[in-house]
Amino acid sequence: MKMPLEEVLIIGAGPAGLAAAIQLQRYGIPALIVERATPGGLLRNANLVENYPGFPRGISGVTLAKLMLQQAQNISVNITSAEVTRLDWNGRHFRAESSAGLLRARVAVIASGTQPRPFTDFALPLQNADRILYEVASLHNVKDAEIAIVGAGDAAFDYALNLAQRENRVTLLNRGDTIKCLPLLWERSQLQSRIRYFHHTEIQKVRAFPEHQLELECLSPAGISHLTVDYLIGALGRTPKTDFVSENLAQQSAALEAQGWLHFIGDVRNGLYRQTAIAAGDGLRAAMKIYQNLKEIDA
Ligand SMILES: Cc1cc2nc3c(=O)[nH]c(=O)nc-3n(C[C@H](O)[C@H](O)[C@H](O)COP(=O)(O)OP(=O)(O)OC[C@H]3O[C@@H](n4cnc5c(N)ncnc54)[C@H](O)[C@@H]3O)c2cc1C
Repeated sequence: MKMPLEEVLIIGAGPAGLAAAIQLQRYGIPALIVERATPGGLLRNANLVENYPGFPRGISGVTLAKLMLQQAQNISVNITSAEVTRLDWNGRHFRAESSAGLLRARVAVIASGTQPRPFTDFALPLQNADRILYEVASLHNVKDAEIAIVGAGDAAFDYALNLAQRENRVTLLNRGDTIKCLPLLWERSQLQSRIRYFHHTEIQKVRAFPEHQLELECLSPAGISHLTVDYLIGALGRTPKTDFVSENLAQQSAALEAQGWLHFIGDVRNGLYRQTAIAAGDGLRAAMKIYQNLKEIDA
């Protein structure tokens, strides 16, 4: 039996994918979103979003993500919980292998965001591996824990503020001495007594401890020190998540994009400009292009 042909397949229900689906629904163009995790995407990790217009006092990333999802659900946007493991183009339509089975679509929208750069400078223990993370959304119920964060950019400081607010004690480790985050995040972290910051400090070894803890062996100009933590979080930067795009599709993607059959939207394509409003704007623009394109082709 042949799988039905979806009009539009959207991979990822972060701000970009949700915005595209909402606008397509307004045009009456059926779209299927496939999301492998909790809808809302990376935004669910943001402590306080202060640059998304409409929220004069800022809004937590979790709440903004929930509102976006609610808006999509209110107009019956179709979201399937599954991971796309391979996306290919067979010359006439897209073919997606997913954990929910095979999908086919006329138009594909890749809104898959980014994936974290993993720790590579030291071996990670197999035991207590669930205590080593690259995002903090899953820690929303964790309180009174010792947490080490490696990194010195916006995400590292945003994670630190987020976790310290919930009475966790956070140690930020920067192997250099350059602070790469927004000045206001640095200033806020300095006012938060539960955040400690160390520069020129590098993890050399991580050992699993009983009681789900980790022992970090750190090297700094003062010598070797040991830090026992409940969680270790890497905030080492992120790269576009496109590992499911087949080689065949990658070779043809520029032509398919130019013809309006394929769209890359949001963080997956935005390099330095990874922001929620930009991702949502990308989603809207892609939906408008799809509407124009299908109207001309199907006329
Ligand atoms: C700590 C932190 C703080 C931030 N603060 C702000 C802020 O204050 N203001 C701001 O504007 N932005 C902020 N951001 C950035 C913002 O979160 C992103 O720009 C935004 O989430 C990008 O949206 P997106 O839809 O492009 O990608 P994402 O939000 O990453 O969504 C991509 C979705 O695709 C899914 N996916 C990926 N691959 C597959 C697959 N193969 N199959 C199915 N699903 C898949 C993922 O699970 C994910 O849900 C912050 C980010 C972080 C980490």
